[in-house]
Amino acid sequence: MKIIMLGAPGAGKGTQAEMLAEKYDIPHVSTGDIFRMNIKNGTELGMEAKTYMDKGLLVPDELTVRILLDRVAKDDCKKGYILDGFPRNIPQANVLEEALSKLGDKIDYAINVEVPDENIIRRMGGRRACVACGATYHIENVPPKKEGICDKCGQELILRDDDKPETVGNRLQVYKDQTQPLIDFYSTKGVLHNVDGTKDMKEVFETIVAILG
Ligand code: ADP
Ligand code: AMP
Repeated sequence: MKIIMLGAPGAGKGTQAEMLAEKYDIPHVSTGDIFRMNIKNGTELGMEAKTYMDKGLLVPDELTVRILLDRVAKDDCKKGYILDGFPRNIPQANVLEEALSKLGDKIDYAINVEVPDENIIRRMGGRRACVACGATYHIENVPPKKEGICDKCGQELILRDDDKPETVGNRLQVYKDQTQPLIDFYSTKGVLHNVDGTKDMKEVFETIVAILG
């Protein structure tokens, strides 16, 4: 099963992808997490990606497409995967489609998590992230058991640089200009499902599970 999570930054794609990965036992592949891990480890890729991420811009396709295709070629992705944050524009979607069709394969579901801008701004402001394991919390909605510490791996939680108010507006604009057209793209392919992301995370999860069957 190959699933794409669509939706604005902060809509809850990563939160749902984590839960789905556990239920269906397939990897959660987040290009944002891969970049953040590279930044943490001080790699050349991380340093380059950071210059774009800090401004709320997309990392160039040449870099992003390569790391995504390398990741999904790994053995653990053979039985399927959940993509979160990729594709982010039509050219990326086309590259993915071509790469899959060479293998006689395709995307099965594109789940669009719909949340209005007001909620998005509150969600990103309160988000706390674990760079070590990719887990996500919210200071009010999904607090960790111990403030500032990841429940899953015990590492320190951070406020992402790109979740600061000065960057959030840019990210929403980039989403509207470049990523939102993917909703029509996957609708035309007959794999799009819209989900109300304003609901409690368990309710959103149950709705998605009902779609996936
Ligand atoms: P995305 O991956 O789409 O950028 P996240 O999954 O990181 O979004 O979620 C953004 C923030 O909103 C996080 O702080 C997360 O804990 C919180 N969140 C996610 N889903 C919900 C929900 N259904 N209700 C309330 N808060 C949520
Ligand atoms: P995310 O964790 O999905 O919110 O992504 C954080 C940031 O990483 C984005 O704002 C982009 O700068 C970069 N990024 C993540 N995925 C992609 C992608 N598919 N294409 C380009 N940039 C990306």
